[in-house]
Amino acid sequence: MIGAIEAGGTKFICGVGNEKGEIFEKVSFPTETPEITLAKVVEFFKDKNIERLGVGSFGPIDVNPKSKTYGYITKTPKLAWTDCDVIGYLKKHFDVPMFFDTDVNGAALGEATWGAAKGLDNCLYMTIGTGIGGGALVSGKLVHGMLHPEMGHIIIKRHPKDNYEGKCPFHKDCLEGMAAGPAIEARWGKKGYELPSDHEAWDLEAYYIAQGLVNFILTLSPEKIILGGGVMKQEQLFPKIRKEVVELLKGYVQTTEILENIDNYIVYPGLGDNAGLLGALALAL
Ligand code: ADP
Ligand code: ZN
Repeated sequence: MIGAIEAGGTKFICGVGNEKGEIFEKVSFPTETPEITLAKVVEFFKDKNIERLGVGSFGPIDVNPKSKTYGYITKTPKLAWTDCDVIGYLKKHFDVPMFFDTDVNGAALGEATWGAAKGLDNCLYMTIGTGIGGGALVSGKLVHGMLHPEMGHIIIKRHPKDNYEGKCPFHKDCLEGMAAGPAIEARWGKKGYELPSDHEAWDLEAYYIAQGLVNFILTLSPEKIILGGGVMKQEQLFPKIRKEVVELLKGYVQTTEILENIDNYIVYPGLGDNAGLLGALALAL
């Protein structure tokens, strides 16, 4: 029995599964204060006899095992969770090995283990939802560093016809500020799922997401790019994004993935809505 937690800013999903990526049982509840939310986590796992636990979390988080604040959610805009010792709290209740990483790093590992990037050593997972984040597997290892990548906050070129100021509380018009779900809603006055599939919002969306992907293709060289999160439920985005990526690269990257197989290169998560939870499971393995 392996425990997995997808700790999201909107909801938490807890599950138990095995090394084959089979989930036996799961629950989901909205993210409230740490006290309420973590108590529900403990309640779920307390009679499950877990041998290890993987946690894929919203961030920023401290993933450096040598740091005093390892296992913490650190300076998050979700203020109640600032400096929350998630792993410390769980360790008090479960004396098992725990593995803590960003939700998107987990999802990248899950996709490389069982999903769309199965068998590959290099892949990129991006979520386009309430925020934008990316996790990357490079040469078989999840990318960490000084902190962990924060791929949603890269600087991008503004579309000449787009006057929207941007929604990021730190940078205003970074990628997340221009293209995450809340930016779509603020720009057009409607939630993404209320806009028709032929709305100009999706051309703009593809324009921004493609810029992000081109930067990551050029820096990380992923063998597969997986795009998840609520906004990517808009299937019409995929062909638009692929086309923009090819145009922006201007023939500079001459790989079969880009030149001949782009439909199979930029894809929806193979694990679907389970990408986050199975990602956490993969972290525990
Ligand atoms: P979170 O990022 O909070 O974990 P999601 O990945 O579900 O959760 O992203 C939520 C965001 O995605 C919201 O801004 C929501 O408006 C947007 N969204 C959800 N479903 C759709 C959809 N079908 N089409 C477009 N946008 C969507
Ligand atoms: Zn930003």
